[in-house]
Amino acid sequence: MGSQADLHLHSTFSDGKLTPTQLIELAYRRGVRVLSLSDHDVTDGLPEAFRAAEHCPGLILIPGIEMSTDLPANEVHILGHFIDWQNATFQERLVQLRDSRLLRAEKMVQKLSELNKPVAWERVQEIAGEGAVGRPHIALALVEAGHVTTVNEAFDLYLSRTGPAYVDREKLTPVEVVRLLVEVGGLPTLAHPRDLEELDELLVELREAGLVGMEVYYQDYDPETIERLRAMADKFDLLPLGGSDYHGWGGPQQREPGDIPLPAEPVQRLLTLAEERDAFKRAYRSG
Ligand SMILES: [Zn+2]
Ligand SMILES: [Zn+2]
Repeated sequence: MGSQADLHLHSTFSDGKLTPTQLIELAYRRGVRVLSLSDHDVTDGLPEAFRAAEHCPGLILIPGIEMSTDLPANEVHILGHFIDWQNATFQERLVQLRDSRLLRAEKMVQKLSELNKPVAWERVQEIAGEGAVGRPHIALALVEAGHVTTVNEAFDLYLSRTGPAYVDREKLTPVEVVRLLVEVGGLPTLAHPRDLEELDELLVELREAGLVGMEVYYQDYDPETIERLRAMADKFDLLPLGGSDYHGWGGPQQREPGDIPLPAEPVQRLLTLAEERDAFKRAYRSG
């Protein structure tokens, strides 16, 4: 079952295959009329997206972002819809976050070379693609270089918190990310929550910080998962939202833009909430 809304899509400005223009054309052709471009930790695709949306009558383009957070062993991503993406302080913060991730990874590669386990920095970046470079990518480079046999071994011997190549860095918790998004008028949604540990506790914290929604209709989530997550969204008074998380690279989980059973009603409630908070005005100001 297709939806006229898709609130989670990636372009070439993070790790997607299609440019914002190609992505919007594809989604529009497929009948999507409410769409959010939500690249990883970056909003630089939005100007192009807005230009492309001008050629799509009736399309509502929601400026968005998907932000990574740093909880050990828990991949928590937060979507921010209707962010005031042109806010200068917000953009400075994004640059800082990207720089600190990169600098930290570079330092770890440096340490590995001092330990006589060199990996090429260029290769680490290639493995990471357009995504934020992290320890898993360095671990894969170590495997490739033959210094270890598995990613686990790379962590055990070098990259774990107590490992000799470990470098600490600025941490952003999910609560801090939600607050950051709220500060710029965003409506934060917890992304792909199915496999998160201690989801109840997390939702209590995030709700208090300003979370408004949770992805319930996502990629290949089966009916039972959807039911479980919808009940949870209800319990915490969160909008049951969703998206395809389309990247364009194929694979068994991939769904085309709009190819998710996201109903119109919660999307409408998100749009109403944005209007009530004047988020529309901020998000679309002169740009
Ligand atoms: Zn994600
Ligand atoms: Zn995503």
